[in-house]
Amino acid sequence: MDWMIDAEEVSLTYPKGVQALDRVTLKVAPGEFAFIVGPTGSGKSTFLKLLYREEVPDTGRLKVDGIDVPALRRGHVPFLRRRLGVVFQDFRLLPQRTVEENVAFALHVTGATRRRLRTRVQEVLQEVGLADRSRAYPHELSGGEQQRVSLARALVHQPPLLLADEPTGNLDPTTSWEIVQLLSAINEQGTTVVMATHAQDMVDRMHRRVIFFENGQIVGDVKEGGYLRDTQPA
Ligand code: ADP
Ligand code: MG
Repeated sequence: MDWMIDAEEVSLTYPKGVQALDRVTLKVAPGEFAFIVGPTGSGKSTFLKLLYREEVPDTGRLKVDGIDVPALRRGHVPFLRRRLGVVFQDFRLLPQRTVEENVAFALHVTGATRRRLRTRVQEVLQEVGLADRSRAYPHELSGGEQQRVSLARALVHQPPLLLADEPTGNLDPTTSWEIVQLLSAINEQGTTVVMATHAQDMVDRMHRRVIFFENGQIVGDVKEGGYLRDTQPA
């Protein structure tokens, strides 16, 4: 099996001695949609950081889309980053740039032609339902719209893997649900989606795979789960 994510016994202790991950083993197949849930401080964000190589594990093996992530030399990290997109709770848009420019920014570095760039940016904005706001600035948009821009930016280079770290953390329930539905639609187009979240209701309603973190370990993994582990069959 060619896994999209193949982590074997990865551990990470931060410099001041906090063990954030303790022998985490996890496999995610291409095309899956998986939630990562667990209390604050349980290691969810740290695990995602390993995947996009913001952090490197102390021990263990880790492959993302076949790439041996810990072994990547600094100069080769862009190859990994082209294979995935990441969205965060706080959107991280460039405030002085329009929607279109924010999304195009990620593509500039890949050396696409102007025409190709414009076409692709419009296409992905369409996909997230923001085609008519391409000239707006982030502060002119609602939180939900800003997260859609952030999603468009993460997807503009058509990565096979999308990572989302509490993407609905700053959004009201209705908007959160819309964003998750959008992630689900993106997943149905073939993109593997891994999303860390606290939004219990949403996880329960989605009936997707749920991976439970606690104290840096995976303590549960349910195929079509809900948020509460003790409601699940053993
Ligand atoms: P979660 O996303 O589940 O809330 P994190 O992965 O952010 O958890 O954090 C896991 C543990 O690592 C926590 O104890 C947190 O305080 C600690 N931690 C996270 N980032 C750092 C860091 N950059 N330096 C030191 N400790 C950190
Ligand atoms: Mg976190």
